[in-house]
Amino acid sequence: MDIATKLKSNNLKVTPQRISILEYLENSKEHPTAETIYLAVSKEHPNISFATVYKTLDTFRDVGLLTEFNVGEDAHRYDGNTSVHPHFVCNNCNSIMDIKEPKTFNEFFYDFEQCNKDFDFENHSLFFYGRCKKCS
Ligand code: ZN
Ligand code: MN
Repeated sequence: MDIATKLKSNNLKVTPQRISILEYLENSKEHPTAETIYLAVSKEHPNISFATVYKTLDTFRDVGLLTEFNVGEDAHRYDGNTSVHPHFVCNNCNSIMDIKEPKTFNEFFYDFEQCNKDFDFENHSLFFYGRCKKCS
């Protein structure tokens, strides 16, 4: 589905700025902050304000077009990949990347559900911490 169609199917007005923001996020593997997204998008749209970018990210989060998370920094991170997936956080350079799921991943969460039947699980969020290839 192209970006404009995605916006429309969530009852959002299609603007060139919104398209740029979502396009940037979907192509990024960096889990950027609002500041980083703003700097990137303002190259194409010099008049866009940080507040507009921030508000747009909130709107996209509310309709599920992106995932927002915080790993203890001042700023939130944004992920254009809305599927539930594990992340690796580098303790040295603070980069956040997607990591592969082992074959036993689903089994692991199934076991969690089996031994915690009082809870109705909806999703999970999983972060691993260490040093990335560049920093180790
Ligand atoms: Zn690193
Ligand atoms: Mn991710």
